[in-house]
Amino acid sequence: MNLLIDGGTVVTMGSKGIIRDGTIAVENSRIVDVGKSPDLKRKYSGYEKINAKGKVVIPGLINTHQHAAMSLLRGYADDCPLKEWLENWIWPLEKHMTGHDIYIGALLTAVESIMGGTTTVNTMYHYTKGGSEAQAFAKTGLRGIIGHVCFSWRKDEDKKALRNLAKDWNDKENGLIRVSVDPHAAYTVDSEYMKELREITKDLNEKYGSTNSPIMWHMHVAETQDEPEKIQQAFNVSLQGGVVEYLDSLGVLGNDVIATHCVALTQRDIKILKEKRVKVSHNPISNLKLASGISPVPNLIKAGVTVALGTDSPCSNNNTDMFGVMKTTAILHKGIRRDPTLMPAEQVLQMATIEGAKALLWDKQIGSIEIGKSADLAIVDFRKPHLCPVFNEISHLVYSARASDVDTVLINGKIIMENREITTIDVHKVLEMAEKTKENLLARLGEHNNQ
Ligand SMILES: [Zn+2]
Repeated sequence: MNLLIDGGTVVTMGSKGIIRDGTIAVENSRIVDVGKSPDLKRKYSGYEKINAKGKVVIPGLINTHQHAAMSLLRGYADDCPLKEWLENWIWPLEKHMTGHDIYIGALLTAVESIMGGTTTVNTMYHYTKGGSEAQAFAKTGLRGIIGHVCFSWRKDEDKKALRNLAKDWNDKENGLIRVSVDPHAAYTVDSEYMKELREITKDLNEKYGSTNSPIMWHMHVAETQDEPEKIQQAFNVSLQGGVVEYLDSLGVLGNDVIATHCVALTQRDIKILKEKRVKVSHNPISNLKLASGISPVPNLIKAGVTVALGTDSPCSNNNTDMFGVMKTTAILHKGIRRDPTLMPAEQVLQMATIEGAKALLWDKQIGSIEIGKSADLAIVDFRKPHLCPVFNEISHLVYSARASDVDTVLINGKIIMENREITTIDVHKVLEMAEKTKENLLARLGEHNNQ
């Protein structure tokens, strides 16, 4: 389809900066022109139009850390420490989740993401043939990287799932879906298995990857201060330095690694992240909610590390609102360092767009509004009391806007939401299915506990 998104303010996050009374021309999946409205309207007169007057067009937001299916557990357990939360609440219930449940949970997250202007989601969960997050993303038209999470206690199962995932889904849905190998963390994946997973990633990339669709590596790193002790307890290895240094000693770090959280880092860890070009996914709301601590993001950025943003799962956040994550990122570091100049709005918006694209090795295709890139766009309606008056669009996007201000979303040139109506799936049905799936899941847990 040939389309003009016309008359809005275009925040390109690229070389053209901000274009007021701007227009974007889209042909099929790609952006073919960006400029002033009168020029482009003349040049592309026959194109179908979306009127963006009073609205701001931004690159679709990129969420670099999710566990999409976990939306089913939203609000199931809150207000307890990470270890207790995982071991006493989340993991026992997750044991009863079927492939179908995973599909429904991921559908719910996909719909919520799209409705909040997020067009790319990097998600870590369990891959099953019976139903998957990949199917849910494909169904809704969301772009994403789907991972299979690996644990030392289920190596054979993991290896099979990884092979199936890569074969079934990498570079599928016109390149919208890619896959990743996801060691859960250094305290749940032993050193030998970690190295083996690196080899597996290499093999899968040779077989199923390509320059535009490399298979990634996505893991939790240094989420809490006591992670070195947890590694020691689990595998009887004594760490001399930080967790990043330990991972580096195994030879598993590289350009394709997305290290999520990175809360507890040493100076040496930061240096290694930069040297090995590891990307950091910063998830401030999850870290605050689980009281894990605060990642030294200003130090990481100063050291030249690529830092992107993530929500984490819908039960450690408890929503997928990237606007909320942006605002939290911008104010959190100012507050704890008592320095209002840290994390300015523009830098934070970069983290949610172009830096996110870089983190996922997807920046040739997405992350900014530039000629030749995929048309992944979110149109934010600024005709609202909390977005008025306008001095600076970027300030409003980071400090004032909410997910619900997103009006229309395009992914790969396709209109996925228009005037807050999702075009690819019936949202009410998704909500009904999610509620029913939750009830069934609780019933199965109840039966199990009564046995
Ligand atoms: Zn996580």
